[in-house]
Amino acid sequence: MKQFKIKYLIYGISIVLTVIALIILIVSYQPNLFSKHKTMPLSQIYTKLKTSHDIINLFPKDLTDIDRIKAQSIAWLDQVTQITDTPATEQNYNNTFGLLDQISYEFGANCGVLNIIENTHPDEAMRNTAQIAVLELSNLATLRLSLNKKLYQALKNYTDNNYKLTKLSPQQSYFIEQTMAGFKRAGLNLPEQEFAKVQMLTQQLNKLTQEFSKNINEENRTISFELAELAGTPKNTIDSLAKAADDKLIVKAQHPTLVAILDNCTIAETRQKTFDFYVNIAYPKNQSIFQQIVNTRDELAKVLGFASYADLDLDDQMAQNITTVESFIASIIIPAQVKAAQEFKLFLAAEPQCATMVNTDNQVLAWNVRYLKNNYRKHNLNLDMSKISEYFPLDHTLNKLLEIYEKFMDLKFKRQTVNLWYPNLELLEVYRNNRLMGHIILDLHPRENKYNHAACFPVAPTIKIDQQIVPGLNAVIANFPQATADTPALMTYDDVKTFFHEFGHALHGLLGATEIASLSGYNVKTDFVEMPSQMLENWLTDPEILKLVSCHYQTEEPLLAATIAALVKLKQFDSGDFICRQLCFARMSLAYFKAGQNKDVQKIMFDILASTRPYVALYQNDHMVEGWGHVASSGYAAKYYGYMWSDVFAKDLFEKIKTGGLLNPVMGCEYIEKVIGKGGAQDPNELIEDFLGRKPNQVAFMRSMGL
Ligand SMILES: [Zn+2]
Repeated sequence: MKQFKIKYLIYGISIVLTVIALIILIVSYQPNLFSKHKTMPLSQIYTKLKTSHDIINLFPKDLTDIDRIKAQSIAWLDQVTQITDTPATEQNYNNTFGLLDQISYEFGANCGVLNIIENTHPDEAMRNTAQIAVLELSNLATLRLSLNKKLYQALKNYTDNNYKLTKLSPQQSYFIEQTMAGFKRAGLNLPEQEFAKVQMLTQQLNKLTQEFSKNINEENRTISFELAELAGTPKNTIDSLAKAADDKLIVKAQHPTLVAILDNCTIAETRQKTFDFYVNIAYPKNQSIFQQIVNTRDELAKVLGFASYADLDLDDQMAQNITTVESFIASIIIPAQVKAAQEFKLFLAAEPQCATMVNTDNQVLAWNVRYLKNNYRKHNLNLDMSKISEYFPLDHTLNKLLEIYEKFMDLKFKRQTVNLWYPNLELLEVYRNNRLMGHIILDLHPRENKYNHAACFPVAPTIKIDQQIVPGLNAVIANFPQATADTPALMTYDDVKTFFHEFGHALHGLLGATEIASLSGYNVKTDFVEMPSQMLENWLTDPEILKLVSCHYQTEEPLLAATIAALVKLKQFDSGDFICRQLCFARMSLAYFKAGQNKDVQKIMFDILASTRPYVALYQNDHMVEGWGHVASSGYAAKYYGYMWSDVFAKDLFEKIKTGGLLNPVMGCEYIEKVIGKGGAQDPNELIEDFLGRKPNQVAFMRSMGL
């Protein structure tokens, strides 16, 4: 996905699995038993996601509201005693796994709300209070859900004694299997002393990973430049910069600004200073935190009986083990490196100042990589990305992108503006077959102290109870440019793809409705979660679709046919380097979490960069790891390979869909029914094979990448 292309690291987490994912290892929700608990003094979020009014009321208005939400979350966790106190003879599915599912749904939804506040609220006290609450709750959930021995014993007792006697649906059985396997992986079957250690280490990790993300989000350092030093930078970027007292223009740690300078600025010193700023976000604050994360994860894995944290992390994934991932990387890396070396020869040949772009070994200097690519795009592919963004005014483009989803997936959206944690955010109602599937909130522009990348933040997945839909809720948080005094907000081509991608996650959350909440939506295996969203990005490489979406903000003309033809081929122009860079990250995320402690983080990074991307010079002050949200997040950790892994499947599926028509609702419905509509309630290997009618392969991926 293009997002990584851009992100030299700050890259947050494409899907915020954060702390909550860890908590919700187990989670799920079985609604038809909710009626049994009507007497509980509990607020049930699942009944409160039906109208815009419900959604507005869901989010806290002040600090007291945050306390109330926290209290509700704790009250739901307290319900675990209902499972542990039920006598063995009275156990059934509903009062064991069903109730666990319900608790996890309600708890997860409350935490989802607080997680959004922590990452987006303009008020510091609100953010901090939400952050403290999320940390406390995640620790409590660790104790009472994921590491609760009594709970494990009660559920084990049910599975050992009663489970086979009861008639369960395939989804319920799958949920039981997955949950019990998750408990084992989490060490619940260990003797008391080892188990106490697991509890301690898990809590330490919760705290460390949260601190790591906070330091990235709250990077408040800036750099500043004279106007002349920003020569070549697009006007709308320059117009969006604030001025310091000395009249210099202030550049903050915001992704769109940084890449606009790196792509376009003709002054090498400015690019170097910007690159240095970019690869030092949250450094040195996160240096020792990352070291502690590596050590603590290694210790945890050992106590749990795994050779390393990477082995533990991959154990329940599609890929299953390190060997499979390493063979996957090996099967792609050589052709990608050959192509990347050819690419840079072309990029350098196209640059009059090429002698200054490389070191004495003819390796490209790191701060010139994006500039060289952009220069080649402009002059040799005739693609000036800042000119192209004039064809993507935000309002028009969003309308068109939403129309594509409506047509292909046969959906209906109703849009309105609401005041939530910030005024005038957009709220979409999503309908399928005239049934409300849920809501998606859009918070799309940068602000001070806001989460600084693009991601879909989950609140609650949509679920299906006896064929009745219980609507879900997700938020797409992004940082697309604002309007300036004389131009409307213009999206770059990358922004357009990013929105389509993140919105794809949000829809996966609402269309993957199953009877079990924790198996609904994109509660799927991590190395599968990017498949649907990455597949959707391919729509924006189709000529008809590009014509449909683009509209110059002044002339109202679509992109010229020649520009569209060039955009269609765009992915291939640097696909070799794109893949090598992705595989660098995949190798790093594995290497940090293979067996061992007190690792030399810098040396590991430099060794991998040198062997995987040998045509780019190492930059000695590069500390990108400290600002790399994925590597610390419990959702990704050793599993960064998942992006490329799922892209291979995405390309395979896309070729089949394209044959049937990218706006063909019959195709879209088949895709929903057989793939995303199944949520996480079935092995993704089976879903893919069912849709393709054969085993997946790498042919489409290699062809689309020009390898
Ligand atoms: Zn994603």
